[in-house]
Amino acid sequence: MELGKTGEALIKSYEGLYLESYLCPAGVPTIGWGTTVYPDGTKVQLGESCTTAEAQEFFDYDMKNKYGPAVKKSVVYPLLKEQEQFDALVSFVYNVGEGGLLPPNSIDRRIRAGEPLNEVISEELPRWNKGPDGELAGLTRRRKEEVELFLSASTPVEKLFIELGDTSDDVLALQKAMNQWLRRWNKPIISEDSNLGPKSLAAVNDFCRNNRLEQNPKGVSEVVFNKIVKLYGTPTPINDTIKAYARGSSNQLSENFHLSEFTCKCGRCKSQLVGTKLVRLLQELRVRMGVPLSITSAYRCPTHNYNVGGASQSRHVEGDAVDISIANLDWQKLVRVAKEVGFTGIGYGQDRGFIHLDTWLEREWDY
Ligand SMILES: [Zn+2]
Ligand SMILES: [Zn+2]
Repeated sequence: MELGKTGEALIKSYEGLYLESYLCPAGVPTIGWGTTVYPDGTKVQLGESCTTAEAQEFFDYDMKNKYGPAVKKSVVYPLLKEQEQFDALVSFVYNVGEGGLLPPNSIDRRIRAGEPLNEVISEELPRWNKGPDGELAGLTRRRKEEVELFLSASTPVEKLFIELGDTSDDVLALQKAMNQWLRRWNKPIISEDSNLGPKSLAAVNDFCRNNRLEQNPKGVSEVVFNKIVKLYGTPTPINDTIKAYARGSSNQLSENFHLSEFTCKCGRCKSQLVGTKLVRLLQELRVRMGVPLSITSAYRCPTHNYNVGGASQSRHVEGDAVDISIANLDWQKLVRVAKEVGFTGIGYGQDRGFIHLDTWLEREWDY
């Protein structure tokens, strides 16, 4: 992301254009739209001048090389979804300095602690409104505009759908779905009491952490609710029992399949999660195909899945999916027999050399 037009206009409206250098309120020689250091690294001195085109060059250089990157290396950046949010934060760091979002500032600390983005930004930015002699009305106004710009990007996404302490049927549906997920990961389950207590919410936030969703200590957003209930709320298709094998164990899982074929290929974690139904169906598929089946990808730890570009909800992360190489076999026959033996998820990657099979919901897609 690079600074957009709205952000540029906001910054320029506050900085003003000066073609002769002047002392800014903090006592630093400044020129153009707030430039204090030229692109060649020399500091602006009093008594210098520039053209409008040069001022634009200085401005663009700073945005591209200093203040855009200052936002990008902050903990906030991966959470940004919209141009407006980025623009607001570039304006902020351009004014307060490249370190505005970095440690040890409280924005960094609060985001790392899992606090909601919008809340942190709208509370923290306004605190940066003081000059050497106390509060400056111009800074107060600028922070307010930045916060408004930042929030203008958000859809009702972060509005809480269920708050901590709420009791409802929705909470019950959420708890039932959460327990499906918790069971699959061998984590302690939560009580299905229709009340969103701290334990239920902690489980939801654990899910969020594992699925790259924003955590929220006060409740559950609609986006998160829908995701959990959609993925885990359907009681019937959750039908495979996932076994987690200890690192380094070496088991023959069935006549033709060995545990080593299912180990995560990231090269570091050596995790081995395998669905028992997955192995049973694979073995039957192997027998009925009458040829060896080469597994190109089975279990993937979340990091590996991310690195290979897998979908964030990939079944590979759950341990009940395999990709089978079609280098030496008739892929149409493979798909037909796979369905006959009971595979429910079929991903058609034949153009890329594989067919994805899993034991989860009944659905098919192309790669
Ligand atoms: Zn791994
Ligand atoms: Zn796959």
